[in-house]
Amino acid sequence: MYVRRSTFGLICAACLCAGSALADDDHPIGEAVHTLPLFDAHIHYKQPAWDAYPPSSVIELMDKNGVAMSLVSSTPDEGTIKLLEYAPDRIVPELRPYHGSAGSSNWTKSPGMEDYLLERLDKYPHEGLGEFHIHRIDPTDEPLLRKVTEMARSRNIPIHIHSGAAPVDLLYRLEPALTIIWAHAGMSEPAIVVEEMMAKHPTLYADTSFREFDILSSGQRLDPDWERVLKRFSKRFMVGTDTWINDQWARYSELISINRQWLSLLPREIAERIAYKNAETLFGRSISNQQIGTR
Ligand SMILES: [Zn+2]
Repeated sequence: MYVRRSTFGLICAACLCAGSALADDDHPIGEAVHTLPLFDAHIHYKQPAWDAYPPSSVIELMDKNGVAMSLVSSTPDEGTIKLLEYAPDRIVPELRPYHGSAGSSNWTKSPGMEDYLLERLDKYPHEGLGEFHIHRIDPTDEPLLRKVTEMARSRNIPIHIHSGAAPVDLLYRLEPALTIIWAHAGMSEPAIVVEEMMAKHPTLYADTSFREFDILSSGQRLDPDWERVLKRFSKRFMVGTDTWINDQWARYSELISINRQWLSLLPREIAERIAYKNAETLFGRSISNQQIGTR
């Protein structure tokens, strides 16, 4: 049981300068983090997982770990639809371009990609476009990327991109009204770059999958740069695991536990946002522990 205390008078000038959304209680949430439902913002249900982890097993893993809802994209998209059909109240589907021979390094050059995306967006209730990779900027990709950004904007759904900072800037240049989820919070971009990008683009969100050990420094503390960025932009981060290979499914409980570990070091209000409330806002859902064990 934590004693709530008003810290308003103690808030440092640096926090105010950083424009952080101020919590009325700066005390870490601690063990109470285990009572929070989670929204896992980076799930894949790829074909090699379908036999080893049928939809019932995936939902059981979510239940066991207090994951109330997930943002799912798959290679191919049929994986996402399988999960959605099994547990429509637990899955937020997004459309990944990868299928057949179109993968992370060549999807923008794949013949018929625009038609494929349009057809699947019309057929299924996708609420995001991605996760897709842009490894490097190629001007010949721009016509397709412009169409992809237009698909997202006209449907009012976010784009979920795995890239460095430059492709995020490019997408915003093509379509300033976009909402973007930056996969792995930029993956290898340092916290300071993530901070600059969040400051520059007010509709940029990020999932923190694969950043657990950047956020957690040794000795059970938050890395100071990450702590600053997470607090300053606490309304735009979401936790995620990234089940890109079956090994990640095998480690799912461990991954969730590491996520709860760093969340436990944040004040309750901020931990709740990153755990599930930001996803509620972004996807217009209501997320609670009541969903655990249902579908
Ligand atoms: Zn991924």
